[in-house]
Amino acid sequence: MAHSAQRDELLAAVHEMDRLGLVSGTSGNVSVRIDVPSDPDAFLITPAALPYPAMTPDQLVPLNGDLEPVEGDGVPSSESLLHLAIYRARPDVGAVMHTHSVYATALGVANRSLPPIVDELVVYVGGGVELAEYGFPGTVELARAGVDALGDRRAVLIPHHGMFAVADTAFEALRVCALVERVAQVFINAEAIGGAIRVPRSSFEAERRVYLKRAGLG
Ligand SMILES: [Zn+2]
Repeated sequence: MAHSAQRDELLAAVHEMDRLGLVSGTSGNVSVRIDVPSDPDAFLITPAALPYPAMTPDQLVPLNGDLEPVEGDGVPSSESLLHLAIYRARPDVGAVMHTHSVYATALGVANRSLPPIVDELVVYVGGGVELAEYGFPGTVELARAGVDALGDRRAVLIPHHGMFAVADTAFEALRVCALVERVAQVFINAEAIGGAIRVPRSSFEAERRVYLKRAGLG
């Protein structure tokens, strides 16, 4: 079985995502880029509709840039198209995690984006988290809308659905998901007691510069 180290690392992040309650049941999906000769868009992704606690490394599905499995007979996640669109648009990204966490999903249900209200969010995620245009799950339209709203940042909210996070590794993507979820909770609470206020503009700009430099984008 090829890519065994990456399978183990991806699965460890998947189990932690499940343990933290960022998804329910078999929802959500996680992928990492893999080295496949002459295919820069190949990635390894969680299978469709299999429970996370009992998931094994051999059940993860390696896909090429045409979304065809390159090994095994597993069925890839139904959101593979959005993972592929992100890898194509963002050469800096090595891993993608999609969760249905409660507060991030609540923002998308209320048609709200997450403004840059916490310093850490700007430094680590690159700013606020934009809300994508609506698209039916698993479609090209949703893939396009997700990539557009992601921009050069590390997270995007998907209306009536959940969120996507991107990073170098699956564990880093997990940290982004957990941070966005916590800041979404803070935002909703702050709105309930008088209104959330953005990070001051001068701090925002300095923090964006730190983010872009660390991400190798600036
Ligand atoms: Zn989903």
